[in-house]
Amino acid sequence: MRVLVISDIHANLAAFKAVLDDSKGLWEKIWFLGDLIGYGPDPNECTSLLREFDHIALSGNHDWAVLDKLDTSSFNAEAKSAITWTRDTITPETRAYLDSLPSKLVLGQFTLAHASPRQPVWEYILDPYTAAINFEFFDTPYCLVGHTHVPIWFEETAVHSVIPYVPNYGKPTNLPENRVIINPGSIGQPRDSDHRAAYALLDTDNLVWEYRRIAYDVSKTQEKMRAQNMPSRLVNRLEYGW
Ligand code: ZN
Repeated sequence: MRVLVISDIHANLAAFKAVLDDSKGLWEKIWFLGDLIGYGPDPNECTSLLREFDHIALSGNHDWAVLDKLDTSSFNAEAKSAITWTRDTITPETRAYLDSLPSKLVLGQFTLAHASPRQPVWEYILDPYTAAINFEFFDTPYCLVGHTHVPIWFEETAVHSVIPYVPNYGKPTNLPENRVIINPGSIGQPRDSDHRAAYALLDTDNLVWEYRRIAYDVSKTQEKMRAQNMPSRLVNRLEYGW
């Protein structure tokens, strides 16, 4: 099966649509790794659009925060204000859908978790040390995570020995015999100094992974955020990809 692997849409409809256009005809199913809402101006629209497709979805920490399933005291002020705005904006239907999602699941050879297999809604896997520990917390050959908004591939070469690889965009790559933890990056709020929406294609039969990147009209999302008086730091960061 050919899968569109996406994460951290964060209510950014322009970015989500750009990814769907760019990947049209290349997949049969979506695997979404969580954080559908929070930060961006289109929570209901992004939820409806995702639900138009055959998909599997996880919930992330921002989804949990909006649903009051998570203590937000550690969120920064801007993230908190986005959570409050989102809480006031989502429809009962969006809320019920988000509430129905798990934060971790296993699909064949793949474990899917929003943040990490050890702590599915909270831990950030940004370095090989944290990745190495997390290999003990799933049983499948491969694990897909989001949450950091940074596309990266951690390959376990021996117990507690992990090599990180940065993406080679547009180059389909065979998954290795070694176990890997892979992050496709974020659609709606990339944080690797590249403003383009990040996503990946996965062929689960031939075990081939392809990182991809597509530019979208950032100003479209920014205008909607300004119209809702969202914090300017959240508005500005989209064009820098951080
Ligand atoms: Zn996120």
